[in-house]
Amino acid sequence: MTKTIDDKSSQQREFKLDRFGRFGFSADGKRVQYTALDPADEVTKCSCGKPGCFAASLFPFREHIARLYRAISDCERQGGFEHDGWYRVLYPLQMAASIEDVHADTGFVDDSDSIAYCSSAADFEAAQTEMASKYAAAASIFSFLWMGYESAVQASKPHILKGALKDGRMGERGRRLFAEYPDLFPGIEGLDRIVHLADRLCEKGNLFTSRLARVRSKISDRRMVFGAELAREFRNFVVHGEDEVPEHEAWGGGSASGEAPARIYRFYAVGRLVLMLIQAHASAAVSAAATPIEYGVDDDYEPVSAMPRNFFRQLHLVKKFSKEASL
Ligand SMILES: [Zn+2]
Repeated sequence: MTKTIDDKSSQQREFKLDRFGRFGFSADGKRVQYTALDPADEVTKCSCGKPGCFAASLFPFREHIARLYRAISDCERQGGFEHDGWYRVLYPLQMAASIEDVHADTGFVDDSDSIAYCSSAADFEAAQTEMASKYAAAASIFSFLWMGYESAVQASKPHILKGALKDGRMGERGRRLFAEYPDLFPGIEGLDRIVHLADRLCEKGNLFTSRLARVRSKISDRRMVFGAELAREFRNFVVHGEDEVPEHEAWGGGSASGEAPARIYRFYAVGRLVLMLIQAHASAAVSAAATPIEYGVDDDYEPVSAMPRNFFRQLHLVKKFSKEASL
């Protein structure tokens, strides 16, 4: 009986690989297997191997979303939030975490038949399809995360900044809550690192220059308020059609080295940031009467629990990181 189940799941795994793992290109033009979601974790991949590295202490991207989903869901179910409305954050988080792969075929609009006769045209088309697939995945996931953020801001501290709440200006309200009521919001472990990463990638990916300059001139540090404003500008930048799918690096995409991957990576850096900002709002919304929530098992398979207010501050971390180690 067990064997049958194993066989079935291994068949499913093979099917998935066959269906979703496909060939694209490395930066120097070599063929490599990829999925459209690879950049989600490449952006925070540890390359230093040092103990205490922040990047190595992060949960994978989708797991980060899933842990936030479960924490909000548990806290809401036990009546642990001061105000209701947190259930609205769950659906967009579930959608963001649900995306496993995306296939975007940029050749669909091309009726020139050149691909059928010319292998270099086919390779170019495959590379463009790879970038379009990665871009479509990143942009879709980011837009669901942003929806979740707007719902969190809507549920956060409903008795203050009522005007922005009524007008539906959630991006602005999110930033103003942090800027004008800093004592209400706890620090989120490692948030500054992600703000720096997002800031750097937003610059490297280009096209976002004037909006980035506006954020930098308005806010001088690189902390929570900066993060909320950067996320708001980035979301408007994407929604207003100012961004573009980059050309593949192997075909000379990007005027500067690293521009093409940065244009995809920044969705996930700003996406992580948005998740952490949701965590800050959720942590601040936990009521004094909240009881511990369970979030997995320890080495002896005993359930582990934490007070939700603290859990929201560090649920993205597999382990503690060293304050000295860089990202
Ligand atoms: Zn590292």
